[in-house]
Amino acid sequence: RELVVSFGEMLIDFVPTEAGVSLAEAPAFVKAPGGAPANVAIAVSRLGGAAAFVGKLGEDEFGRMLARILRDNGVDDGGVVFDTGARTALAFVTLRADGEREFMFYRNPSADMLLREEDLNVELIKRAAVFHYGSISLITDPCRTAHLRAMEIAKEAGALLSYDPNLREALWPSSDKARTQIMSIWDQADIVKVSEVELEFLTGINSLEDDVVMLLWRPTMKLLLVTLGDQGCKYYARDFRGAVPSYKVQQVDTTGAGDAFVGALLRKIVQDPSSLQDQKKLEEAIKFANACGAITATKKGAIPSLPTETEVLQLIERA
Ligand code: ATP
Repeated sequence: RELVVSFGEMLIDFVPTEAGVSLAEAPAFVKAPGGAPANVAIAVSRLGGAAAFVGKLGEDEFGRMLARILRDNGVDDGGVVFDTGARTALAFVTLRADGEREFMFYRNPSADMLLREEDLNVELIKRAAVFHYGSISLITDPCRTAHLRAMEIAKEAGALLSYDPNLREALWPSSDKARTQIMSIWDQADIVKVSEVELEFLTGINSLEDDVVMLLWRPTMKLLLVTLGDQGCKYYARDFRGAVPSYKVQQVDTTGAGDAFVGALLRKIVQDPSSLQDQKKLEEAIKFANACGAITATKKGAIPSLPTETEVLQLIERA
């Protein structure tokens, strides 16, 4: 059983044709399919693993296009449902010259937010070795209830639960609400990955010290990761902890690097679940995930830059 089932949103990012402009200044936009959970599923599949995506799309041109992208990338779309009344979500995203990311979301509500418990492909979720999710699907009902139910189904069927909160503050009614809702499912995850920004947001402390990270540790967890961009990541397991540096690459666009990292790590964990208890194996898996994230940062967009296993191994060998 090696299937990774990823749950949540898939949408279209519209990104400016020119780099370093604000949304208002952008002369034109191109479509860039995304949504972190969908990226993770495609990352796993690109590496040669079995992956499925569970979520709702609009019964429109964009929704059908996204489902086709899943299938073309070898991701099982048996968990995808379509809403006839709501559109596929859109987001306009830019990386401004000052390095700040600017988002503008069109979700009023979008189809992904309307996934219902009855829409869940229970048989597919039960086949998961790892069930992965974020927090955007927790923002509003009915998707929130469907998300909680899907976690329950996966856990009961013996899957490991993997959580990348993937904070998008602008989508929440308030920062407090974001924090409490993100933390409301914290204790259920076996594997949790946060970025530096999320670590500070959730702990309220701007520090990478172990005692700060440990505020997010739970005895029920198997692995907690803090990703640090070109610096690699820190990891915390039950009996050991450490840091693994990343690989030197020419950074072009980090969009999807975190999702590539997660996809690669989950791929390694489903291939050998004992990696979670064995420090040497875990460090090997994290190296592989770092390399996968690093490669994704060398090209524009998320999905087009996700590497194959061969490409990842080549980067590791070259280093
Ligand atoms: P995201 O930005 O996608 O929401 P994130 O902040 O977790 O998620 P990063 O920390 O940027 O993502 O990247 C994830 C992993 O990818 C890092 O831990 C690192 O291993 C690798 N990585 C990302 N950017 C680079 C880079 N410029 N050079 C080398 N490795 C990188």
